Amino acid sequence: MFSRILIERNIENHPRVNFITEKFPKVPIKMIDKVDDVFGRVKKPYLQKREDLQLFLGEKKGQLVKEAPNAYGTKGESHFYFIHAYNCIYECEYCYLQGYFNSPDLVFFLNHEEIGEKIVELYKESKEELIWFHAGEFSDSLAMSHLTGELPYYFDLFKDLPKAKLELRTKSVNIKPLLELEPRDNIVVTFSLSPAHRIKRTDLKTPSLKHRLQAIKTLALHGYKIGIHLDPVIFEDDFTSAYQSLLSQITEVLPSEQLDYLSLGVVRFTKEVYHQVKKNYPDSDLHASEFQKTPEGLVRYPKPLRMAMLHRLESLCIEEGIQKEKVYLCMED
Ligand code: SF4
Repeated sequence: MFSRILIERNIENHPRVNFITEKFPKVPIKMIDKVDDVFGRVKKPYLQKREDLQLFLGEKKGQLVKEAPNAYGTKGESHFYFIHAYNCIYECEYCYLQGYFNSPDLVFFLNHEEIGEKIVELYKESKEELIWFHAGEFSDSLAMSHLTGELPYYFDLFKDLPKAKLELRTKSVNIKPLLELEPRDNIVVTFSLSPAHRIKRTDLKTPSLKHRLQAIKTLALHGYKIGIHLDPVIFEDDFTSAYQSLLSQITEVLPSEQLDYLSLGVVRFTKEVYHQVKKNYPDSDLHASEFQKTPEGLVRYPKPLRMAMLHRLESLCIEEGIQKEKVYLCMED
């Protein structure tokens, strides 16, 4: 899977380094001083990850937990995200990571205890009723969790933070590490879903809708709270019927009491990411869409279309029996 593993010298003997490297006994290892000295220093084309993917192991420095942008999550609550990895093994054509780093190589940061200390600090300072911490802003939270092994640490941490919620957001079906843990009401596993044909066409290398729904069913039966992101929604002539069918498949496998929330968001890009999408996926049907450039530097559908799509989807959710207060619209006023 990896052409080379690069490890920061100061964590050479870290137990998590051994845990990871022993799974790849044949992959060459190189010791480095700091991830930042090498990662992204020379621009590496995004799609090179198909043939040559390196893995970096290091410690995250600087701000470990950051306040999430407005409208990031459920309204009226405070939201933070923490960074424990860069990049992803999947290839969704719209992925914003294409324009974000200079390199598609994977980076795992192993100083989870320091991230945890910051989470606790923010928790203690917060006067809010509820404070969210989102994992995987720059990666998929679960896809590699069998390799990184940090989930038991976060499950223990959140046991003592009753006013906090942890979101693990994924498109993977890598649920074995979760099934080995005791579900907690303040740990929500969230799945990004799209209609089956759209996943095949756009979410390259990700598990099919059928497999993701099966993973949701298994986790819900195990007692996990589940969140659903219908995001990014891509407009197609039959988008109403496609999402009607998707919502009915979701409610079939997910009992309403296990649904924590459902978020809706329409596809959007920064200008830089859109440029990368055109370069990396010139044949994508995304380019047939009628996007507009906004003064804030975004590329997205015109506002009337976005709002019509979101409100149509919101109605479909309610028709499907999902409680209105569990549905929120993402990244919109
Ligand atoms: S799963 Fe998320 S992070 Fe990974 S390629 Fe798709 S959009 Fe990007």
